[in-house]
Amino acid sequence: MSRTPATTTPNGLHHITAIAGDPVENLRFYRDVLGQRLVKRSVNQDDPGTYHLFYADADGTPGTDLTFFPWPHAKPGRPGAGVVEETLLSVPVGSLEYWEERLQAADVHTGRVSQRFGEQSLRFADPHGLRLAFVETEDPFDFSPWHEGPVPAAMQVRALHGARAPIRELEPTRTFLEDTMGFRHFGEEDGWHRFVLPGAAGAGGGHLLDLRADPEGRRGEWGVGSVHHLAWTVDDPEHQVALRDAVAAAGRRPSDVIDRFWFESVYFMEPGGLLFELATTGPGFTVDEDQGALGERLILPPWLEGSRERIESILPPLDEAVA
Ligand code: ZN
Repeated sequence: MSRTPATTTPNGLHHITAIAGDPVENLRFYRDVLGQRLVKRSVNQDDPGTYHLFYADADGTPGTDLTFFPWPHAKPGRPGAGVVEETLLSVPVGSLEYWEERLQAADVHTGRVSQRFGEQSLRFADPHGLRLAFVETEDPFDFSPWHEGPVPAAMQVRALHGARAPIRELEPTRTFLEDTMGFRHFGEEDGWHRFVLPGAAGAGGGHLLDLRADPEGRRGEWGVGSVHHLAWTVDDPEHQVALRDAVAAAGRRPSDVIDRFWFESVYFMEPGGLLFELATTGPGFTVDEDQGALGERLILPPWLEGSRERIESILPPLDEAVA
């Protein structure tokens, strides 16, 4: 039985993957300053001489996960059409003052707290130029605080909140988001159109995509400091196939289903050039490690286990960076 369009709709963001510079600097920032837990240290499956690092809440809950390919020798990304320019992370209401002080104490330059779509937000960038914003939100998240981390549970980053990107033409993306992925247009502010997925309280909860039309804009390019893709959550393989079929019917040529061990993935470009992924909720990060030991050892896909010694000798050590 095929699903109706409403049930092919993804549940919200699953993870956001970006390109970083030096992996030790990346770890120091996301774990030691932002207080996220390193829940998986693995390698880029297409380039096993480089890490793939995953930061999330204590359990690696889908929707809390920022992942990085650290490529210290890659060139910086170029902002522009078709490339995400800001990643929004939700933080508890009343925590921005704490975060402003914490970031400034770590020599991270921040913007002023400002209000966007009625939400208080604080903008900053990571050490490699990835632009981020903390957004205060009351939405209930499935979130597990990391009690061994440096940030008190009451202040911790809750989840991914959304992303902002310029694209050349709004209409083809709008049609695709609304008709194929189940987003609705929430409103417009300062040229930004906010699209939301159903299922969240109010306007947020990892359910947001803000787009701005920039018809003359140069196409952006991926590099250090840019978001590579946005992954949206599907319940299970059946949901994934139903949405993949809808994406194919809309002419977006999705990839085959790829097994990423912790989830299964399908990739495609939406009409504005943003790379999207559909990732299953399970099996999750505890499929190959205990919850208590997440992220402590290098996890390799089975076909690379035979090369573990060589791969470990190539990868820069991360552990001396422990705060
Ligand atoms: Zn991904």
